[in-house]
Amino acid sequence: MKIPLRDNAVIAVIGGGPSGAAFAIRLLRKATEIGKKIDVIIFEGKDFKIHYNQCVGVLSPPLMDILEKELLVELPPSLYKRSIHGYRLHGGNKEVLLFDRGTSGMTITVRRVEFDRFLLDTALNLGARLIRSRVINIEFFQPEEKNGEVRIYSESGYTKADCVVGAFGLDSTLLSVLENVTKKSKKPYKRPKKMLKTFITKFHADPVFLRKYVGNIIYAYLKPPEIPRIEFAAISPKGDHIIINIAGEKVTSLDMDMFLSLKDVKEHLPSFNPSDLSYFEGRFPTSPSKNPYGDRYVCVGDVTGWMRPFKGKGINVAITTGMRAADAIIEGGIGNDSFSKYEESCKELLDDYIYGAFVRFLCIKASRLFVGRMIQMSLINPIIYDALFDSVSGHRPYKEIIKSLIKPELASKEIISFIKKLLRGKRKMGEIKIRNLARHDIEAIVKIDEKITGRPHEAYWTGKISKYLASEPGACLAAEIEGKVVGFVLGDIRGWEYAVPTCGWLDVIGVDVEYQGMGIGKKLIEALFSFFKKSGIENVVTMVNWNEADLIDYFRSQGFERGEYINMIKKL
Ligand SMILES: Cc1cc2nc3c(=O)[nH]c(=O)nc-3n(C[C@H](O)[C@H](O)[C@H](O)COP(=O)(O)OP(=O)(O)OC[C@H]3O[C@@H](n4cnc5c(N)ncnc54)[C@H](O)[C@@H]3O)c2cc1C
Repeated sequence: MKIPLRDNAVIAVIGGGPSGAAFAIRLLRKATEIGKKIDVIIFEGKDFKIHYNQCVGVLSPPLMDILEKELLVELPPSLYKRSIHGYRLHGGNKEVLLFDRGTSGMTITVRRVEFDRFLLDTALNLGARLIRSRVINIEFFQPEEKNGEVRIYSESGYTKADCVVGAFGLDSTLLSVLENVTKKSKKPYKRPKKMLKTFITKFHADPVFLRKYVGNIIYAYLKPPEIPRIEFAAISPKGDHIIINIAGEKVTSLDMDMFLSLKDVKEHLPSFNPSDLSYFEGRFPTSPSKNPYGDRYVCVGDVTGWMRPFKGKGINVAITTGMRAADAIIEGGIGNDSFSKYEESCKELLDDYIYGAFVRFLCIKASRLFVGRMIQMSLINPIIYDALFDSVSGHRPYKEIIKSLIKPELASKEIISFIKKLLRGKRKMGEIKIRNLARHDIEAIVKIDEKITGRPHEAYWTGKISKYLASEPGACLAAEIEGKVVGFVLGDIRGWEYAVPTCGWLDVIGVDVEYQGMGIGKKLIEALFSFFKKSGIENVVTMVNWNEADLIDYFRSQGFERGEYINMIKKL
């Protein structure tokens, strides 16, 4: 229905968090511009001097631009607690430090209570009225009764309004009230079907500790293998404290206990007594609500569930939806017609949902394969590095990130091989057969190396393999699956080289990128060790570049320890 906005209309906003405050600010500014008088009443149950909305308080780009250019508010510098320069992402047993390459805006952390108070005060200064009371019920009337007015019942009485704005976050009572009062309408409201549970805790830390052990970095963890219920967790630095949050569909406070006891996490925290900590529980929506508007009502912020399902940027969504709902009222009134245009104006948020859900699915269901592999690839591929940074920081929509990975030549090769690997993972994989390597395998090995390094080195491999086959054929092995060579290892037995007594040398090992993570390397190494043992060898030696942490970890996982020799070089 079309319902024009009358002069002196009363708009009741339930909730004075970021979405409700942004709505009120924008509506009052726009009304002044067109010379219309509107009475905006904000119901807020909390006193932001004492109570606060649980949040980490990370403001991600382009929020600062939106606040300044669209909402016309400038955050006072005293609200900035710390600027964030990068993220250390842990996932799939790998980690990478991700820095913004200067293309995005600023990420800062704030104290959420100060941020909420500032926005609410701005709305009040523009003329909104505050009723510090919790709403307990809403009543809608048909157009023929009471002019279709809306009645809002709060703990301090009732108020008549022309339209009600649902900005109450995920407050269960109000979600049920809204579902109940709209259930007989053609398009009843239904709360977001999926939500993530989250726990949050806080550590006070002095500036020296913060600088030394945390810095201006957010430490993000995707599916830590030790705590399977955690989908993601983060350690975020603020002005004089550190916030830890964990999230997952079924996380419990026990998962927080376990997370805080991880060695890697403890390194970023001051020493603490677990019984002194307070945990707070909260929720994020991870799927859209149904019908978040109708005649004389519209929802904004978390109530819509129009949040990214991964790295939610909930405050950005709250402020954007608040502003767009206000624009719809000014341009088209307070009926369903006008609010369907509001939904259209938020299309980019809704459109990104499916892409975000896909990325979340990959990260959760194939964490080791997907995240670990992406982290590995990001070390050599700047497109993948940027894609990871943007996914973790939320700097670009998921749709754009996925497109950037599919378009460019270099990235698409990596992704296609990854997708092939995923698909292969679903098929029943043939048996891995280890056999002696032969000269006719050289072509396959050149291809495996080309996939890893990006360049063919045919002459090098022909010479090298021939040499190893001539010296110790039993230490040259190939791994085959369904007749295809998918990995190889070259070794030999040498005595008194660098004064090391006779031992087995593992010179080079390679596994086709599409078959990595399936235990092929392990099988090759076991077969090589068994050959060395049969030849009476007691020690196996290999050389690794000290900076290749992944490779060192890999050899450690195969039982290698650091040897006694170091490599010395003099530049001539
Ligand atoms: C643990 C946690 C950490 C988060 N960290 C971040 C982050 O770092 N960055 C980010 O962008 N997003 C973050 N989010 C998401 C973000 O907090 C929300 O998406 C955002 O606050 C939504 O704003 P909102 O205005 O819709 O709802 P809210 O912020 O929830 O505000 C709703 C307001 O309504 C009031 N209210 C509720 N019921 C009633 C009632 N019956 N009567 C009157 N008033 C009522 C509440 O008191 C509250 O002030 C986090 C969320 C959680 C749970």
